Amino acid sequence: MAISCNLGFPRIGIRRQLKTALERYWAGQSSAEELFQAAAEVRRAHWRLQRDAGIEHIPSNDFSLYDHVLDTAAMVGCVPSRFGWNGKQVELDTYFAMARGASGAPPLEMTKWFDTNYHYLVPEFEPGTTFRLSTSQAVEHFVEALKLGITTRPVLLGPISFLHLGKSKAAGFRPMSLLGGLLPVYRQVISELAAVGAKWIQIDEPVLATDLPKETLDELPSAYQQLAAAAPNVQLCLTTYFGSLGEYLPVVLRLPVAAVHLDLVRAPAQLDAALELVPQRMMLSLGVVDGRNIWRTDLQRALAMVEKAVSRLGTDRVMVGPSCSLLHCPIDLDEETQLDAELRSWLAFAKQKLQEVAALVLAVNRGRQAAADALAASDAAQASRARSQRIHNPEVKQRLAAVTPAMFRRPSQDDIRRQKQRKKFNLPLLPTTTIGSFPQTADIRKARAALKNGTWTPQQYEEFCRQQIAEVVRFQEEVGLDVLVHGEPERNDMVEYFGEQLEGFLFTRNGWVQSYGSRCVKPPIIFGDVCRRKPMTVSWSSYAQSLTSKPMKGMLTGPITILQWSFVRDDQPRRDTAFQIALAIRDEVADLQRAGIGVIQIDEPALREGLPLRQAQRGDYLRWAVDAFRLAAAAADDETQIHTHMCYGEFGDIIEAIGELDADVISIEAARSDMELLNAFSRFRYPRDIGPGVYDIHSPLVPSTEEIIARLRKALSHLKAEQLWVNPDCGLKTRGWPETRAALENMVAAAKALREELSARRSGG
Ligand code: GLN
Ligand code: ZN
Repeated sequence: MAISCNLGFPRIGIRRQLKTALERYWAGQSSAEELFQAAAEVRRAHWRLQRDAGIEHIPSNDFSLYDHVLDTAAMVGCVPSRFGWNGKQVELDTYFAMARGASGAPPLEMTKWFDTNYHYLVPEFEPGTTFRLSTSQAVEHFVEALKLGITTRPVLLGPISFLHLGKSKAAGFRPMSLLGGLLPVYRQVISELAAVGAKWIQIDEPVLATDLPKETLDELPSAYQQLAAAAPNVQLCLTTYFGSLGEYLPVVLRLPVAAVHLDLVRAPAQLDAALELVPQRMMLSLGVVDGRNIWRTDLQRALAMVEKAVSRLGTDRVMVGPSCSLLHCPIDLDEETQLDAELRSWLAFAKQKLQEVAALVLAVNRGRQAAADALAASDAAQASRARSQRIHNPEVKQRLAAVTPAMFRRPSQDDIRRQKQRKKFNLPLLPTTTIGSFPQTADIRKARAALKNGTWTPQQYEEFCRQQIAEVVRFQEEVGLDVLVHGEPERNDMVEYFGEQLEGFLFTRNGWVQSYGSRCVKPPIIFGDVCRRKPMTVSWSSYAQSLTSKPMKGMLTGPITILQWSFVRDDQPRRDTAFQIALAIRDEVADLQRAGIGVIQIDEPALREGLPLRQAQRGDYLRWAVDAFRLAAAAADDETQIHTHMCYGEFGDIIEAIGELDADVISIEAARSDMELLNAFSRFRYPRDIGPGVYDIHSPLVPSTEEIIARLRKALSHLKAEQLWVNPDCGLKTRGWPETRAALENMVAAAKALREELSARRSGG
């Protein structure tokens, strides 16, 4: 019989109980015991939910108090020396110190988990790093579930992925060289799990969906040989996800494991090759339900794949599951009672996705008739999604079809635009500006809450926001900034603010997804054709401009960032959705310009994170992502200055695409790398203006004028003075007012001092 399985479940809890429990513990308001209890309750509820949904292989050890990569580091005793660990068991305080830092010991670095919006903690390796078993979580959680009558399938992050995801400060050191010392710990965990009754163990090797060096691949066979020999009575399921195994498929299907899981949502084409190559002794686990999205599965399409596999392998060699862990998915659609029945019929959250898995297994084990209801409901949802006027807007589709090449181009080349803009704005050398937001104070949050719960009228709220804008404008004039912003007091979130005003978006009440630790986000759902009903930012920006004679920068979120931070429809290419959003932003650019806003910033902080995992697919993505930006920006006349902003500092591999954006000014994160990243720009001979962030806004520390001057001098060693803008790293919304004022005063003073020096040098010859 085919087996239903799940690879991982969200941890945070339907009411975000884990978040509450963690934050209470960190604030010293509860004991470790209370935290453990809250966490155990979440696990218990989730195991039961999965069992009730009809899942046979239910994961354990997928739960984590903070992050599963950190759990793995703790499990193998990979604790950097700065945490002063005693080398025995990794206890809660050491664990949280690694996650969040302790006095004098900065935390592990955090970075994105593949191409998701989840962040993991980066393990640190050194040439002499040794490993020993240092936590018992895997065994404890297995036993905990067993006591509830549920025999789970424990999940381990595979040794190859663990080493590959970590980093080393030692130059030239390859973490993979530590594999020999790591495997015995894995073997010990596997045999301990076997001893308490585990029948299956899931080993995740998601790095197999990325480009790997040959040396790493070469390690696979012997590593898995050793793992498989650890406990002869345990079956290993090697799970891969987030993409195709591509050229690694033959190697993986020769490994001595009992099953291999394939992501057939991202990479359906690999099924045929896998069916050819899979050896007699091996099961295939088919990831046919999308774990990365919130759409109801087209069960017919999924079933066709499962049936194809069954017809080749027989039911006994087939497992069916989500494409990847459901960590990236909200928990339960049944909570979204505010959505109407039609909208809900198109969606599936974690619980519903598991019910879909169970239905598919029922259909192959007992015949389609046995799953007739589920299939019929899926068919009906597909049909209504294909036809619904709420999704399909002929005007939007026609407009997209009629886009011409000229619409991606500004009227003139950058040098001509530069001249015209110089004349129009007459800005000094090293112009100063900020990235958009000013501190989001408690007052601002209160005002927003008052509007939401109806204690304030929209007029009251608007009046309040106008006051905030007026104060921020006055402040910027006092400080002496050159290009001003309105401060974004009306925005809760840079994507939500636009999504709420655009057609084609919907918002959930409880659709939380873990971002890192106790932090969650609630991404909007783009369900239909996107268009703009009416101007979204013009009244705020024009009001702000009316208060000053300095240029006021209009502030927009770019199409790729809106796309990247939402759940995106799966019934058309992402590119088409991006272009629809781009056209809506384009209209906003045109309206701002018409209203007299001469500088417009289109933020694209998520451009880089949309990069596909495999190099071979990046060019295609970058082409349409750049085009989407250009489509939005090119409504600007030559005199209108287009800015963009990105808050990261790795440009080496995408610098050409950054150039292609053709923005007149780009502001980037640079303070943390101390301007080193400007190398990429100077090597590329980046022709337009750049504002490398001169101080890190993530910290409340106020940079001194001298520090900023030193950074600017460094920047000038890479760039021409005519290219250089002076601004912070990112928006100031998470900062308080006192440090914001002090930092910006120093920033302006630094720009002025350097400006004088430069012009004295020039006039002096
Ligand atoms: N304009 C936004 C702000 O200043 C940009 C935020 C971001 O880059 N993430 O807050
Ligand atoms: Zn930023």
